[in-house]
Amino acid sequence: MHDPQWHERAACRGHSVEVFFSEDPEDVRAALELCQQCPVQQPCYEQAMADREHFGVWGGSTERERRRVFRAERRRRREERERRAA
Ligand code: SF4
Repeated sequence: MHDPQWHERAACRGHSVEVFFSEDPEDVRAALELCQQCPVQQPCYEQAMADREHFGVWGGSTERERRRVFRAERRRRREERERRAA
């Protein structure tokens, strides 16, 4: 179910956003730990994917993990186009 108010229940609310956009592995780990305790991890992840968020930790995922998914989606769409054109 879509919950437009999910931000209000975010575990990161009130925390510094810096750890979520840091390249320091310690910060990334701290951000991911907060996400693991967050009651709105799923809608946060879905929003990040829908918005094509390339930077930062969102919904328990790192930017590297999401970029991998974005690349796989692009590859799948390209292969689909090529299949249709053949
Ligand atoms: S999943 Fe992580 S980034 Fe998303 S709202 Fe929760 S704590 Fe914040």
